Amino acid sequence: MFAYDTRRFQKIATDLDLPAFRLAQVRHWIYKSFTGDFYEMSNLSSGLRDILASKYYVTNSHVVAAKTGDGSVKLLIQYPDGAKIETVIMGYRDWSSACLSTQVGCAMGCTFCATGPMGLERSLTSEEIAEQLWHCCHYAKVNSLKPIRNIVLMGIGEPLANYHNVVGFIGKANAPELFGIGQRRITLSTVGLVSQILELAQLKLGITLAVSLHAPNDKLRNQIMPISCKYPLQEIVAACRKYTEVTGRRVTYEYLLLEGINDQGSHASELAGLLRGENCLVNLITFNQVPGVSFRPSTNVGSFQRRLAQAGLNATLRRSIGQEIDAACGQLRKGFPE
Ligand code: SF4
Repeated sequence: MFAYDTRRFQKIATDLDLPAFRLAQVRHWIYKSFTGDFYEMSNLSSGLRDILASKYYVTNSHVVAAKTGDGSVKLLIQYPDGAKIETVIMGYRDWSSACLSTQVGCAMGCTFCATGPMGLERSLTSEEIAEQLWHCCHYAKVNSLKPIRNIVLMGIGEPLANYHNVVGFIGKANAPELFGIGQRRITLSTVGLVSQILELAQLKLGITLAVSLHAPNDKLRNQIMPISCKYPLQEIVAACRKYTEVTGRRVTYEYLLLEGINDQGSHASELAGLLRGENCLVNLITFNQVPGVSFRPSTNVGSFQRRLAQAGLNATLRRSIGQEIDAACGQLRKGFPE
């Protein structure tokens, strides 16, 4: 991305012999007005616009397809090496939220997810993740959608398996001279990589940590999320408790309700037992049908939620949008389905 970091900003200023304020104007066009064309930067001289357009790109990636429906937009983004990922803009009343991918594919193998069987191709750099955010902001502006105010790192990939790039991205998303999105408006979702949760805690960021639990005991969790064999639930909950102690931020536990698998009263009681006394929120999610995946959406959502509430847990039901365009939770993949 153009002038993404201080080093590159200074190099462009030196190469073009430009005063810093002039380059800051360009950066303002790109990161505040989401202008993708140097020729639209009306307070620059035509000579400078020519030079910028001949030497630089605003982004290295491109939106190669877009699908709209159900209050959301799914963008297919291609990077220069040919790798493709999906990213989603979710529309709400006063703002939009960008659901970003952190890897091309995913190694976690969750059995309910469209990405799971595809495996991991590679991780995305901090800059590549930022380009997704820029494309979302640009698309929202050009198409008169509500501006992007929130980020959820819940797209393709396991963010904590790409720890340094994701942390670097959060810094850039938050930087006032770049996207300026408050840390409290950023949510990072993970399957629960314990050592990375503890490492993240030490950074004392203001972001929300969302842990995909999806089962109240290790035996069931191992069946639907194979990676969890490495991370027993008790260790994950202990790491989250530490995260809250260090950061002051309450952890959210995501729980995808699958008909006849994890949605019975006994599962709710077990979940309540696991999380008893924890300062947390349980976010119940309705399952979105994925081709080739045999799970079905639960019909037991209301009573599951009531049982958790009776046990004293804060439990909400996440509004699911994007189902019409296969952009809902677990439906993203490395390319648009044929
Ligand atoms: S749900 Fe998330 S962590 Fe699990 S396979 Fe899909 S993308 Fe990876």
